[in-house]
Amino acid sequence: MAAVSAVARIGYLSSDVVLYSGSAFSETYDSLARGSSHSPKVISVPHGADVGSTLVRHSSNLTSFTGVATSQLVNRLILHLAEISSQSVVLHLAVEHDLTDVLLLRSAVPFFILSHTAQDAHDNALLAARLARTEKKAVVHAFYTSQGENSDAELVADESVLPFLLAKKNPHSPSTTNGASTPLNGVNGVNGHANGASTLVGPIDEPSSAHLFKAYEAAAFDTVALVRRPRRALASSGASAPHTVIFLVGKSEAATTDIDGVSFVTLSLLSPLPPSKLVSAIPPSAQNVIVLEQVYRWSTKWTPLYLDVVSAVQGTNVGVHDGILGEDVSQQSILKLLQKVAAGEAGSRLQVGVIHGVSSSSSVPHVPKHEAAYTKILEHLFKDQFEVANSPALAATQGELATTPEFALGRVRGQLDARQQLVSLVQDLLQDTSLSADLHSLLSKWILAKDDATKSRQLGDQIVAQLEQASSTSTIQRALSLREHFPSVSRWIIGSDAWSYDLGASGLHHAIASRLDINILILDTLPYSSRTSGDPHRRKQDVGLYAMNHGDVYVASVAVFSSYGQVLQSLVEADKFKGPSVVLAYLPYSSESSPALQVLKETKLAVDAGYWPLYRWDPSKDAKGLEPFSLDSDAVKNDLKQFLDRQNHLSQLTRSTPALAAEVVSNLGDTIREARKKRAQQSYNDLLTALDAPPLLVLYASDGGAAEKKAKRLVNRAKARGLSTTVATFDAFTFEALKDEEHVVFVTSTAGQGEPPQNGRTFFKTLNAAALRGDKPFSTLKFTVFGMGDSHYWPRPEDAHYYNKPAKELDVRLEKLGGERVADLGLGDDQDADGTETGYKVWEPKVWKAMGVDSVEVTEAEPEPITNEHIKAASGFLRGTIAEGLEDASTGALAPSDTQLTKFHGIYEQDDRDIRDERQAQGVEPAYSFMIRVRMPGGVCTPTQWLEMDQIADEHGNGTFKITTRATFQFHGVIKRHLKPAIQDINRVLLDTLAACGDVNRNVISSSIPSLSKLHAQVYEFSKECSAHLIPRTSAYHEIWLDKKLVAGEAVKDFEPIYGEFYLPRKFKIAIAVPPTNDVDVFANDLGFIAIVGPDGELQGFNVAIGGGMGVTHGNKKTYPRAGSVIGFCTPEQGKYVAEKIVIVQRDNGNRVDRKNARLKYTIDRMGLDVYKAEVEKLLGYKLEPARPYTFDRNIDDFGWHKGEDGRHHFMMFVENGRIEDVPEREFKKGLKELAQVHKGTFRLTANQHVMISDVPESELETVKRILRKYKMDNLNFSGLRLSSSACVAFPTCGLAMAESERYLPILIDKVEKVVEAAGLRHDSIVMRMTGCPNGCARPYLAEIAFVGKAPGSYAMLLGGGYYGQRLNKIYRESVTEPEILAILTPMIKRYALERKDGERFGDWTIRAGYIAPTTEGRLWYDRMGGEGEFRESA
Ligand code: SF4
Repeated sequence: MAAVSAVARIGYLSSDVVLYSGSAFSETYDSLARGSSHSPKVISVPHGADVGSTLVRHSSNLTSFTGVATSQLVNRLILHLAEISSQSVVLHLAVEHDLTDVLLLRSAVPFFILSHTAQDAHDNALLAARLARTEKKAVVHAFYTSQGENSDAELVADESVLPFLLAKKNPHSPSTTNGASTPLNGVNGVNGHANGASTLVGPIDEPSSAHLFKAYEAAAFDTVALVRRPRRALASSGASAPHTVIFLVGKSEAATTDIDGVSFVTLSLLSPLPPSKLVSAIPPSAQNVIVLEQVYRWSTKWTPLYLDVVSAVQGTNVGVHDGILGEDVSQQSILKLLQKVAAGEAGSRLQVGVIHGVSSSSSVPHVPKHEAAYTKILEHLFKDQFEVANSPALAATQGELATTPEFALGRVRGQLDARQQLVSLVQDLLQDTSLSADLHSLLSKWILAKDDATKSRQLGDQIVAQLEQASSTSTIQRALSLREHFPSVSRWIIGSDAWSYDLGASGLHHAIASRLDINILILDTLPYSSRTSGDPHRRKQDVGLYAMNHGDVYVASVAVFSSYGQVLQSLVEADKFKGPSVVLAYLPYSSESSPALQVLKETKLAVDAGYWPLYRWDPSKDAKGLEPFSLDSDAVKNDLKQFLDRQNHLSQLTRSTPALAAEVVSNLGDTIREARKKRAQQSYNDLLTALDAPPLLVLYASDGGAAEKKAKRLVNRAKARGLSTTVATFDAFTFEALKDEEHVVFVTSTAGQGEPPQNGRTFFKTLNAAALRGDKPFSTLKFTVFGMGDSHYWPRPEDAHYYNKPAKELDVRLEKLGGERVADLGLGDDQDADGTETGYKVWEPKVWKAMGVDSVEVTEAEPEPITNEHIKAASGFLRGTIAEGLEDASTGALAPSDTQLTKFHGIYEQDDRDIRDERQAQGVEPAYSFMIRVRMPGGVCTPTQWLEMDQIADEHGNGTFKITTRATFQFHGVIKRHLKPAIQDINRVLLDTLAACGDVNRNVISSSIPSLSKLHAQVYEFSKECSAHLIPRTSAYHEIWLDKKLVAGEAVKDFEPIYGEFYLPRKFKIAIAVPPTNDVDVFANDLGFIAIVGPDGELQGFNVAIGGGMGVTHGNKKTYPRAGSVIGFCTPEQGKYVAEKIVIVQRDNGNRVDRKNARLKYTIDRMGLDVYKAEVEKLLGYKLEPARPYTFDRNIDDFGWHKGEDGRHHFMMFVENGRIEDVPEREFKKGLKELAQVHKGTFRLTANQHVMISDVPESELETVKRILRKYKMDNLNFSGLRLSSSACVAFPTCGLAMAESERYLPILIDKVEKVVEAAGLRHDSIVMRMTGCPNGCARPYLAEIAFVGKAPGSYAMLLGGGYYGQRLNKIYRESVTEPEILAILTPMIKRYALERKDGERFGDWTIRAGYIAPTTEGRLWYDRMGGEGEFRESA
């Protein structure tokens, strides 16, 4: 184990409180927290924080700190060392090369130990812990991080550490005997001199120093007994009667050098170092002593050790010299050193070896890469005007102190004073009548515009030019000497976490009290999930309250990964504010390698849980009669607002600081808890009424609803048998309450990689913990378990244990906890003939038998389970109780049946899955919000519509919106009370959301074909026509969302001429493609129209393809993707009727019993394509003409500029995965908004999730190009792979997602791109798609390479799709993780580059190269999956 981990481990195992700073240690502590039985309190001290004061507050039996010894850390520690010295504290300080900083602590602590190797570091960490505990004193333990060959340490066992520390002092140890140093610890050892030869006459040691040394010896003696390796304070080597003794302090191989007449003394103990010990290391033969220390930046003439040696040998003839000990010391360099000493050249400091890393200590301090997220925004916003007063760049010229906020504050004060002087001088000059009129005018203008960034700079330049020409006066000379202050500057101090911690100390308080016009950005990097490891006394959020309480200070709390817009707004407001501004910025990361996705998730958790509320406090608004406080985090808006009102704003707020986040969260939960209480009461009452029946509790854990359905059906059957039955989820029932139950049936499905479903996880954790403790709480409980899983989900033999894992574990645990199994574990397998029902049918009778009701005859028909078909039928043409649900303020959700109906209105209920666990732990309902999808046939919208969408995202959504694979807009994060206003706003610009989702025809998509203007107009019209023809006729939409009541009350009944009251069995999708472009993936749709254009360029009609569809269920071979089949040709006039009849045949023949088998593709395969076609033709009353020839050559978008036949221009812009948002370096939302404000043409959204700026007239071209350039929206410099990629939304909003998609695909592409580029294929298009689940929204089954989510981090990998969407791909590997993906693709792509034929596409090549078999039709999709021949996955 390397030194850092070895030391951190001992620190952890030996201490009651562990403090640490820096990511180097966090990993060790994290893994120890998971695996060690010792659990000290672990506190992360942010980089730059005042470690000393934190240590003072956390005294314990033993407190350890581990950190890197920077000068900033040492400077802060020194201030508190007097207090710390008498506490049981070990400071483990890591050093890379130079001991200059850490040695500053030597004289201020009782013990200072130095370790040279990793093994030393480990052993001395133990020694230091023992010493600190027994002596109740502080020990500094410095150790090297770079160990070279000695990088591994042998470790003592975990369980030996505490007994070692707590053991009594060894009676034989040197400190408890009267003897002097033993050979173990004093000068000596293997090559030592203490063989009776006398040394110089020794000086008298100070009693305190001698006492401390004895204590060290005792601890070292005990440590040796444990580790069986010698511990020497001073170890000698080399000649036994030397003329020169060289003292070595630092890591060096010099001591092993063999030079005649020279001995070396390596010091491991630097304090206490009694003079007698130094003298005992110098034999009488010695004429010279050279003290070499690894202090590269020591600023004074002599080091303390040199002076100690001088004073120890005073009165003798020994000469003492000092020097710097470098690394890689050769024998040669020591000989040269000796020559210099002999020649008397030792006047200046000597040096041996190479000095490493010295430049880095005085160069620019390292700024963690994540933190650039904020500085980039500042640079972008304020450009030349931006100045960081404590910029790391200053360190190179002014030392590291220049980067401290205190220094920066002084600097800013100086600058502001200088500018004020300049203002006075300019005012004086304005009185000077001898100045030219021009100069006079410029000076007056500058006085007026001195706070304007641009004008003050421009005027300043002109003034300086004129002043230099003017006749020189002292005022002019002084003004010129202050010329740098003409431009207005936005001054920022960027404080690390440290500053915000020093509330009462000099830092922030001084800045605020100074009333200077200074902006302070304070970064908080503590991840939300590690918040308990932060110092609880020093909550960063309190800084805001503290600053607000000062009154005249601008305060904002921001998080760039939550709301970019709010960050911009806050920074601009902070800059404008005349006085101190404090911006608290959240940027949670645990190490520099933390991926951005992790930072994003942590930010979301913190913001949504109210831990890091986003707000702005602008006291200047007060004077204008405006509300100074704005809360910007949506999820907690109302509650915090109420809290603020109730608490009469800030003065009261400050008093109640400790509970800010808790208040917000518990407020949010109150009403929900109330509602739950009522429901519980209701259930209790129900229970009372059925008290005389034998009780049965049915508990279920279910993600997709299948286990829930089974549990509820079981309950109905139990009731029919006279049992008094209660049903609940695992997590809704407390463990305590379960102890009192008699009969309990558990039904659970299996999630991801054998995990319990979401609503059973807490229960499982409690269960496991109780089993670990060996508890037997269930002595009266009778139980049985039924599990549901898929034995083929993880096909590799080593993964077989994932099958039904939760059920199997539950069954074993319950027995272990004392429960009595009354019926054997039942297992349902999706792979069985009847799915999980096969196993269930065997198990259920055993339950009745165990309950003694197996002979009860059940005569009543079992109530049918409620399905989507029932919900549709009972909905009153899609009304349900949506309107009432919208009024219910006690929950953020709608009734479950209504959530099925809102889909028809273009609305999906979702909850934020990133924070689901967190909210459950807090006892509040999930963070429900809604996704809204717009119906926009053909994907075309006007600039006005675009602007409205942009505003809706800001006002009602999460500030971003998405271009979907159905070429329309989609908003996420719309909370319930915003639903109606959002839909009304959409309708205001003549768009709607009706039928954007649901079991009806959804948004009709069509090719964007920029150059074929006339054809596009025709195809676009056709798509609108089809959409309008198939739109549901219900008035429910207008009634619920637009408040339009039925004109004649109940007299007018809704009527659905095409759908009927049951609508379709499943969704229905239509696409229109214009060859050669298949950018809509026409074969992925239930109905595809392929435009056929005559030689005259006129639209002749369409080939009709039916039965395409993507959705699949993992492991369920009854489900498969299917590419549409062409059945004939129709004219444009016939088109919408053909569509109607195809819909009607599906309406009447689709499977309404099993939704997994209900899409048109299954109906066609069941009926037969010809039969289906015949049915359609029968309804049409005529036969379709034979299909006409066509050719496709791509299914990706044509990026870049195109000119249409009508002379108008079009630019296809690349929007990765369709997300329109503002992020650093990519402000697309802002840019497109600016563009929409001037653009006169249209926007076309594509099914590949990109956007085309369309119909740009020549006159507008330059303006559009300028805006595109300004926001880098014209950037198409991406690899062909990225340009051809596509991902669905998945986490965090899609409730069906099993793995990441939109947030992960770009990261994966970063990695695959390297492979592609190395193979010389950067510009080659390879279609790669990813979805978070097998529903396949991003059409993965038609991609050349695809990844379909199975569990977090695990995907099914598919290969062999046709480049232009003509052929389905096939599963190549059933589950792969990122390393496996890269391991598979790297050689494959290399081979492709070498072996492909001219124009051969990747998908085609993978088939020719024998990796995968071609899929000839959907039904055969599973045949020969898993690769071909040598590429077949071994099973
Ligand atoms: S493919 Fe699955 S995870 Fe992705 S958006 Fe569609 S349903 Fe959600």
